[in-house]
Amino acid sequence: MRLDYLTIFPDYLAPLRLSLPGKAIDSGLLDIRVHDLRDWTHDRHRTVDDTPYGGGAGMVMKPEPFGEAFDALEVQPGDTIVFTTPSGERFDQRVAEELASSKRLVFACGRYEGIDQRVLDHAREIAEVRELSLGDYVLNGGEVAALAITEAVVRLLPGFMGNAASLVEESHAEHGLLEYPVYTKPRTWQERAVPEVLLSGDHARIAAWRATESRRRTAQRRPDLLHPSVLDDGTPIQRATPADAGELLTLQRACWVAEQLANPDVRVPALHESLADVRSWLGEWETYLVRRADRLVGMVRARLDGDAWDIGRLAVAPDLQGEGLGRRLLAHIEAVAPAAATSYVLFTGAGSERNQRMYRKAGYRLRRDLPGPEGAIVLSKRRR
Ligand code: SAM
Repeated sequence: MRLDYLTIFPDYLAPLRLSLPGKAIDSGLLDIRVHDLRDWTHDRHRTVDDTPYGGGAGMVMKPEPFGEAFDALEVQPGDTIVFTTPSGERFDQRVAEELASSKRLVFACGRYEGIDQRVLDHAREIAEVRELSLGDYVLNGGEVAALAITEAVVRLLPGFMGNAASLVEESHAEHGLLEYPVYTKPRTWQERAVPEVLLSGDHARIAAWRATESRRRTAQRRPDLLHPSVLDDGTPIQRATPADAGELLTLQRACWVAEQLANPDVRVPALHESLADVRSWLGEWETYLVRRADRLVGMVRARLDGDAWDIGRLAVAPDLQGEGLGRRLLAHIEAVAPAAATSYVLFTGAGSERNQRMYRKAGYRLRRDLPGPEGAIVLSKRRR
């Protein structure tokens, strides 16, 4: 994998050489190049920033050095340009997995108040773009984020880790849970003994203990990762990313067509939604999905509208409807509602008997006072 970094503080990225095994670089698994963005300036002061149009505090990174850098580095379709930004999609293990399949990542590290928007618009025309945030806080610059993202991604590359099995059981791995507590020698330290089961040599008991501890820890520290975000059979309910847009579009269309065939009076207002539409709403709606055997079979999305958690869409693959997946997705989206939400609101086709039955069972009541799209009814439920 080739990794390029555009930064005004190249020294900041020196730890890359410490944190990534030299072996991975020597063997050619990683090709790392750190570039001083100022190399693509042409004035005496090597200026990379200027005052914001429209006024306001701080400075904005100019577009020209980035544009010239992309040209000089021959960024092309198939490459991924990562913009580190607090207003980006939240970086997590799933995004790391997606990035690990890229041949080349080009990190554009922001500083000051960020990068001129036209750089991002241009970047989207020449390569794939990911705007990624480390979390809901503001750093001084994108270098720390680029380092963190790099470490999370490259350890997933085949051949990087000495023991690939250690990736499987880690926190945030495919099972979606936090890792169980781990112990090493000595058996007793400061009068604290290692749990007896780990010394038993009984692999089945050890696996059961670890699974229990993993769930206990997740429930205590990150309940959002657990119930009901794991279905009874262990299938995780995952947060959707822009890369899921195509499959989401296909799932929705399959559901809507099935709905119309079953009930010709039902009008689906979003039937003609395009891939670009899905990509665009994914940025606004908190969206979750379920996969079975690598196939997208369910989705639900919501966003806060005043103090209502607006559950704008819920879809289950037509061949799996009636098996309870819709109810689990509904329970999940209710469970992740932000604290500010005092009620849940949704709409469904006025003629969709089955949907209405499911929502009534889940405690939703008809709201004649709330407007919905033509041919639909609005339902709501108070949050407990
Ligand atoms: N004015 C920007 C805003 O409010 O979104 C914040 C700019 S911040 C001071 C400067 C740079 O630090 C950003 O352009 C970005 O590259 C990086 N940065 C700050 N917080 C980050 C975060 N949570 N995740 C990733 N990058 C971050």
